Amino acid sequence: MKVAVIGGGASGLAAAITAREGGHDVTLFERQARVGRKLMATGNGRCNLTNLGASVDNYHGADAAFVAAALSEFTVSDTLAWFSRLGLVSEPDPEGRVYPFSDQAGSVLDVLRFRCDAIGVRTETGTEIKEIRRKSGCFAVNGEQYDCIIIACGGRAGEHLGGTGLGYDLLRSLGHRITPLTPGLVRLKTAEEITRMLKGVRAKACVRLLRRGRLVCEKSGEVQFSDGGVSGIVVMDMSSLARDGDALSLDLLPPVNAEKLQKILAARASSTPSESAENLLAGVLHSRLGKAVIKRCGLDFGAKLAGLGEKDIEKVAKTVKDFALTITGRAGFPEAQVTCGGADTAEFKPFSLESRLVPGLYACGEVLDVDGDCGGYNLQWAWSSGRLAGCLR
Ligand SMILES: Cc1cc2nc3c(=O)[nH]c(=O)nc-3n(C[C@H](O)[C@H](O)[C@H](O)COP(=O)(O)OP(=O)(O)OC[C@H]3O[C@@H](n4cnc5c(N)ncnc54)[C@H](O)[C@@H]3O)c2cc1C
Repeated sequence: MKVAVIGGGASGLAAAITAREGGHDVTLFERQARVGRKLMATGNGRCNLTNLGASVDNYHGADAAFVAAALSEFTVSDTLAWFSRLGLVSEPDPEGRVYPFSDQAGSVLDVLRFRCDAIGVRTETGTEIKEIRRKSGCFAVNGEQYDCIIIACGGRAGEHLGGTGLGYDLLRSLGHRITPLTPGLVRLKTAEEITRMLKGVRAKACVRLLRRGRLVCEKSGEVQFSDGGVSGIVVMDMSSLARDGDALSLDLLPPVNAEKLQKILAARASSTPSESAENLLAGVLHSRLGKAVIKRCGLDFGAKLAGLGEKDIEKVAKTVKDFALTITGRAGFPEAQVTCGGADTAEFKPFSLESRLVPGLYACGEVLDVDGDCGGYNLQWAWSSGRLAGCLR
């Protein structure tokens, strides 16, 4: 069969290779000058290509269970074996996040590109597909007829890397419904000025998301402060749940409870009485974070530790254990790593990813209403869904 794959990102490359290996005549269309531009930026340029613990629970969407079929047809082990066959050496970190051994996203893209070239996938870069017309059971794309189409256009996240809404437009034009689109895995904006002095600081914290005082979710991990907000894996994982006006409570010292911390700080004050208050948390927290806590407590930076009262120390300990921030919004699609929402999965068959509305039309990757947690899960979805769609069942 003649097959057009629209989108040369992670899922499109996987689909094109699979379809070509299945003996089909495959053309891969990519609007940007090169394939895999977003892939090159993943994992801070290291490409966190999968996660050893990936399961249905790591995915979200109107019907999160939709991913189960693709993940079972093309598992994490299958993915690792596939990449190994393509010549990629990879290794997991202690949290199960898998990276190429080279620590270069380019290694992942290279092995995919080389395979496409070796098996004869025709790649047309710089070609944006704006229209797909159906003609007596076939599809007209870019002036040619195709038996099957695989939409692998990705989503709107990472706009500077080529994220667009074009895939949604193409699917809409063929009668598919698109669920509301919002940026996911993104920095949260916060109201407090204090984050200014913390720009670039990373801290291990237990983060609680609260709505009108009630716990929405809680996660532990690294938090990164920015000018006017917070990010880091834990925060980004919560970002799709967060609403304006919600609160974040950061426990900046999870292994030590407030009582014990108070004792540590009282001992510091009495053993170094002439040290200044700004250094009360030296040795406990990142130095800038320690100073920010002291500032929040309204203590005079230059005051001697000897002059601090029990109440001051209690306040500092409490602030370390509950560093509160007010959410004012999420950063937008340019900063987002994934799109929440997309083509309604109820209109696709889970074991083939073929449209229930248009025979011969398939979709894979982020264009579908599937988004994963931070940690390699989104690329795993791209590989699993791309490989499945490429089978053209
Ligand atoms: C900064 C950043 C870091 C990330 N890091 C990770 C990570 O480490 N691990 C992880 O699992 N996930 C990560 N992600 C998410 C992951 O990159 C995406 O979920 C994944 O790339 C989606 O694959 P896809 O094939 O669906 O879409 P994409 O990779 O976005 O590919 C879609 C391609 O289609 C092309 N296209 C679109 N419309 C058309 C058209 N009409 N005609 C022709 N071509 C078209 C686009 O130019 C693009 O190249 C990251 C995302 C970002 C933005």
